[in-house]
Amino acid sequence: MSWHLTDQWRRSSREGDSKTQAVNPRSFSSIMKPERTPMSRRPKPPPKPKTSERFIERDPVEVYCRIRPPETPNQEECVTAVDSRTVKLTPPDTCFAFRNGHAKEQQYKFRHVFNPDSSQKDVFDYVAKPLVSDVLRGKNGLLFAYGVTGSGKTHTMQGSPHDGGIVPRTLDVIFNSINEYQTKRRIFKPDGMNGFDAQCESDASSERRRIDATPIYPKTPKTPRYRRDTSGSQDSSQRIPDTSRIECIDEDNVFSIFVAYIEIYNNYIYDLLEDLSDAGPSGRLQTKILREDAQHNMYVHGCTEVEVKNPDDALEVLYKGQRRRKIAYTRLNCESSRSHSIFTIRVVQAPLDAQGEEVVTDKASMMVSQLSLVDLAGSERNNRTKAVGDRIKEAGNINNSLMTLRTCIEVLRENQLTGSSKKVPYRDSKVTHYFKNYFDGEGKVKMVVCVNPKADDYDETLPVMKFAELASEVQVQRSVQSARQDPGLLPGRRRANQLFKEVRRRLEEEGENVKNLEVDLTPIYTLAPAWPAVSYTAETRDDVIMKLKAYLQKRIHNREKLQTELKGKILTMHTNVVEMEKENLIMKKEIMSLRSLYDDAMAKVRTLESMLLNAESVNESLQRKFTDYNNLVDECNAVREERDIAKSQGQLEKQRMKARLKCKLEIEKDKLKNDMQTKLSEQKSKMFHSQVRALQEIFLDDNQTPGSRVPSTSDSDLRQPRQGSQNQGIKGSTSDPKLNVSQAFLTPDLRGPAVSNQRHRRSRSQGADIWLDHRPGQEVPLGTVLQPNLPRRKSVTRLRSGDLLDGRVTNYCLTTQQQDSEGELETKLYKGDVLPTAGGGSQVVLQDVEILKQRDPLAVPLSKRSSDGTPKVDATTVQERCATGIAYYGTPSHYVPSKRTKL
Ligand code: ADP
Ligand code: MG
Repeated sequence: MSWHLTDQWRRSSREGDSKTQAVNPRSFSSIMKPERTPMSRRPKPPPKPKTSERFIERDPVEVYCRIRPPETPNQEECVTAVDSRTVKLTPPDTCFAFRNGHAKEQQYKFRHVFNPDSSQKDVFDYVAKPLVSDVLRGKNGLLFAYGVTGSGKTHTMQGSPHDGGIVPRTLDVIFNSINEYQTKRRIFKPDGMNGFDAQCESDASSERRRIDATPIYPKTPKTPRYRRDTSGSQDSSQRIPDTSRIECIDEDNVFSIFVAYIEIYNNYIYDLLEDLSDAGPSGRLQTKILREDAQHNMYVHGCTEVEVKNPDDALEVLYKGQRRRKIAYTRLNCESSRSHSIFTIRVVQAPLDAQGEEVVTDKASMMVSQLSLVDLAGSERNNRTKAVGDRIKEAGNINNSLMTLRTCIEVLRENQLTGSSKKVPYRDSKVTHYFKNYFDGEGKVKMVVCVNPKADDYDETLPVMKFAELASEVQVQRSVQSARQDPGLLPGRRRANQLFKEVRRRLEEEGENVKNLEVDLTPIYTLAPAWPAVSYTAETRDDVIMKLKAYLQKRIHNREKLQTELKGKILTMHTNVVEMEKENLIMKKEIMSLRSLYDDAMAKVRTLESMLLNAESVNESLQRKFTDYNNLVDECNAVREERDIAKSQGQLEKQRMKARLKCKLEIEKDKLKNDMQTKLSEQKSKMFHSQVRALQEIFLDDNQTPGSRVPSTSDSDLRQPRQGSQNQGIKGSTSDPKLNVSQAFLTPDLRGPAVSNQRHRRSRSQGADIWLDHRPGQEVPLGTVLQPNLPRRKSVTRLRSGDLLDGRVTNYCLTTQQQDSEGELETKLYKGDVLPTAGGGSQVVLQDVEILKQRDPLAVPLSKRSSDGTPKVDATTVQERCATGIAYYGTPSHYVPSKRTKL
């Protein structure tokens, strides 16, 4: 253990002398023991260090000052920052020194002063970031936050979620820097003696599975990461992480981070991460003891170290520990901690093997470094907190441990100044004992002195300033990187391995066979094994020189050998380069020709592209037209549909109208039919009577004899012809009045109707038939084209019985003329057969009637059909038909009026 002042320190202390006011020895002596020698009256520089110590590099303890912002706007202040390195302390009227009459304004020098405006990031970057860089390179670091309660120690160390302090930022930067170089869990594990063991991936993975299967505290917390801290210290869900990182990390190493959190309270050490199942029946944490490891480093025996893989995991561990901290109420700050809390981050790193694949598990290759972040308890005196009972004890112990720290610093300083070797009382308190190694040169020591500038705190702030000044005068041996065996491996092997894997993967994707593709990353050459460990003293000087000489000769020999090898390789390489040049030329030519082909192809592609563009534009316009046409068609369809609907409605209406008219027509038709039937029957009877009368007159004219007169028949008899005789012809045996008349007239005796054979036919040989042409009246000449055809006839105007009895007469024709209902002349030819009767007489059986008419062409036609096919019926036609019908009564089968009607 050796502490010395360097020339640099001496320079800076002389500067400090000129600027810093002398400290009042009496006021300081009341707090600090032993009494410190004022700097203005310091002895001359210490005696020259021993030869072996001349080469040891040392650094002063870096002490920073942070002035917190005023608590209230109009707060009376006693601390002001003069410049970036100087703080002025002005005693207020109320302070103890002022009342004693020896208050003086004093200035204190620091490595840097953070004024109230300084941000958390400023403090971290300036103070802690270099320590983070060191710890990642294998150097230890220690950072204290020192000051009165309420001065901002916890704020500086932890901060708030949205503006983190040194601890969360340190974790952020560490993980940002080593993120891609981290090992999986359990590759490294604590050996319980302040060291670490390394194991291969297969062992680590089986251990991981075992731990995950039976989770026990403490293991790396997984979820939930953002748990609310019941002590109200943090809520990491709103945390804004620091994004900076440390560059130039050894890429060929793998890293793992372990955290531990202990508390020193009433000079007892507690493990804040201890599994509570080990806490015993009282449920209280067990006190821990300090031990020294094989390298004489102090460590807390049995302290829990949790492996963490990201900042949130680490902070969750911190918050868990905080929940266990003993926080006691004081009048000054209800959250003031009465204990020292120490959060330690340990960085374990080991090199990758020659292939850059697996971690080297050899313990000698591993490097462990640690950064301890210490939030000290308030440095105020007992009476300030007005503590009672247990609290007095707490406060007393707190001050005792801080007092020991001050004493140690004082002794160190004195030893360095005077060259003496007074024993530093590290063991008097747990805090100093724990950090003894740092002051022995195992790491860098920094201190942030937090100051509350309010005037009320002057009496407490003054000793803090004095301690800070004292600490900054102490120098500690510059920390060296943890000793570790040089593995003699090729630098950049991790990257080379990654590149090789990438190439292999790509080749595999391209279908290449990569089974036998391997890469050798072992070093090409080494000049010699590692340098021999030698200890240089005056006594061993010759031995050391001899050892080093032999070592160097071996290296020189190796070097010459390697140079010869190198020359040969250079020659080979030169030949290879020439060959490659030739190949290169050929390739260039090929490339040229390929390029011209490529250019041609590109030109074609461009032409095709422009054609395609044109075609696309044409296509687009056609598409537009097509759409327009479609729209038009749709419109037309819509119009057509509308029309169809209208049309169908019209047709419906028309059909309805038609049905109505038809119905009306039927009614009219029925009505007309009834009328016509009535008229017809009237006309019929009328006509019948008139005809009968006409016939009676004829026959009466022809038969003047009263005996030959036809017995009169009542009209009623004539009007009612017998039913059922219509198809039988005129028979003498019937009671038909008409037939009776004729028969009576034709038969010579009136014994009854003559019986004739209807089937009798006389010889009808040509010329044998003689027609009896009976024309009773003076006829008006017909003048028609068609005339009655009677080839052989016997014309008579009056019918005699002898005419009919002439055996040659076989046919009878009676011609009459009269005016019809329209006043036209109507000629009728009644035709019949002359048949012999059984009694020897003759009988005329009328068979046919021909009607000849003259008609005015301008007169309304007799028969006319309506457009719908219904025959028009008028009164004349009906009357005439009725007359005709009556005329042929008894022989309807022969009656074809339309054929016989002659014009
Ligand atoms: P200590 O830990 O020294 O007892 P704290 O860190 O708990 O003091 O600070 C006490 C209060 O002052 C806290 O509410 C904290 O937020 C506030 N404070 C301290 N320092 C600062 C600062 N630099 N900027 C803003 N607030 C601060
Ligand atoms: Mg605090």
